[in-house]
Amino acid sequence: MTPDLGQGDGSSLEDAVVLGRHIGNSVIRNGGLIVQGDMAKAIDDYVKERRWRAACLDHRVVYIRVEAARRSKMVDEVLEGWSIL
Ligand SMILES: Cc1cc2nc3c(=O)[nH]c(=O)nc-3n(C[C@H](O)[C@H](O)[C@H](O)COP(=O)(O)OP(=O)(O)OC[C@H]3O[C@@H](n4cnc5c(N)ncnc54)[C@H](O)[C@@H]3O)c2cc1C
Repeated sequence: MTPDLGQGDGSSLEDAVVLGRHIGNSVIRNGGLIVQGDMAKAIDDYVKERRWRAACLDHRVVYIRVEAARRSKMVDEVLEGWSIL
């Protein structure tokens, strides 16, 4: 199993927790009410908090895929050298 597996699902659970916290805090701040302007701020704050984590995850997945493709090509070349393929 490569380390990128499950990251999308895991990240979406983290998203849900962080978004829920920002929305919940907005509702608490406003005495149990959903206030449009404050909700927009809650969503902006959620995006700011998650942006770097999501960007790092994205870069890591691209790196792993490129590295996996490179290693797979190396294995193909070795097997070709052994006349297995
Ligand atoms: C082909 C494929 C394979 C994948 N394989 C893996 C894997 O093996 N492992 C892994 O961890 N991750 C995998 N992922 C990634 C993973 O599926 C996603 O990262 C994860 O599902 C994101 O969850 P989410 O809740 O953020 O968004 P989503 O699962 O996209 O959920 C968003 C929901 O919101 C709904 N929606 C959108 N707009 C509106 C609207 N305006 N009003 C109401 N509802 C709306 C959509 O219909 C959808 O149901 C894969 C993704 C794809 C496409």
